[in-house]
Amino acid sequence: MQKRIAVIAGDGIGPEITGEARKVLDRVCQKFGHTFLYTDVLMGGASIDVHGVPLTDEAIETAKGSDAVLMGAIGGNTSTSPWYQLPPDKRPEAGLLKIRKALNLFANLRPAYLYEELKDACPLRPDIIGDGFDMMIMRELTGGLYFGERHTETVDGVRRAVDTLTYDEKEIRRVTVRAFDIARKRRKKVTSVDKANVLDSSRLWRKVVEEVAADYPDVAYEHMLVDNCAMQLVMNPRQFDVILTENMFGDILSDEASMVTGSIGMLSSASLNDTKFGLYEPSHGSAPDIAGKDVANPIATILSAAMMLRFSFDMDEEADAVEAAVKQVLKEGYRTPDIMSEGKTLVGTKQMGSLIAERI
Ligand code: NAD
Repeated sequence: MQKRIAVIAGDGIGPEITGEARKVLDRVCQKFGHTFLYTDVLMGGASIDVHGVPLTDEAIETAKGSDAVLMGAIGGNTSTSPWYQLPPDKRPEAGLLKIRKALNLFANLRPAYLYEELKDACPLRPDIIGDGFDMMIMRELTGGLYFGERHTETVDGVRRAVDTLTYDEKEIRRVTVRAFDIARKRRKKVTSVDKANVLDSSRLWRKVVEEVAADYPDVAYEHMLVDNCAMQLVMNPRQFDVILTENMFGDILSDEASMVTGSIGMLSSASLNDTKFGLYEPSHGSAPDIAGKDVANPIATILSAAMMLRFSFDMDEEADAVEAAVKQVLKEGYRTPDIMSEGKTLVGTKQMGSLIAERI
């Protein structure tokens, strides 16, 4: 099979980690007889330096013309980088919001999976961890509070800021359908998270989730208030399969869920639209503090590439092979500094990528 992949290496550790993901994808091509054609796309600080803006229209067109986008991370040191002297809409992160909107990437999927080999890095007690947990957070990505009308004003000498949280039923339905489809391929349970005791948008969210659920009699579902969910994630994470929620709640809960797995360098993510197209990137940022030192963990990006194989290319066997190779390398005791523990073998970014590629 031939696929076109737009690669946004980005800033900081971005070029290093996408380089290792490409190494692994090249090995997949070799092993399974595919051809992946890569096109490099500038975004974030790298694009500001060349074009003066974090994302050009041409870059969006290139992304749209590909079968999927693989991304590293964008952004620099927010205190010292000159990129942050620019107005907010010209800063690196503006590119990210723009590409999500332009590609209609409304569904953000983040797995939180505890590797047996990395149990020691999990901050939860062993009796809570049990035999591990494996959940997917499905976060609505292009609506809600982050995209609503906002302004700051002064009324009678008092400063006031307004943000609006709006959802229509179409926005809720499309992400809910995605969540139920994914649950169907997993342990068949959706926990929909809202604040329906307070918010109208959450009450509509509940109604639409119930309407969609009627089409999935084989998938169990429940509603949970967001404050309770924040507690349940650390009290009993094993109860969750797919967590479905709106943009801001998902922003917070997905970071919480990822931290209970112990390492940010291991966490992949996918942003999907209503076709097979998706943008795949690690959950972490560009880590400017460790850029260029060959110490970044490339596994989150490699696992994001595996998600791309699974969700955009329908290459389940190939995705399984990449995930199995990651597990194997961890089992053999190889660790980048962020996940290093006593008695294990310390390796750099490049060697970690090579070890994984070799085991496919
Ligand atoms: P960060 O995720 O980049 O780094 C947080 C900490 O985790 C740092 O100590 C870093 O060294 C470490 N870390 C992150 N990824 C790692 C990896 N793969 N291996 C080993 N250690 C890793 O978050 P931050 O420092 O808050 O942000 C840095 C920049 O990244 C900012 O400009 C921010 O805006 C940007 N950012 C971009 C994205 C994105 O591109 N999607 C997401 C989050 C932050």
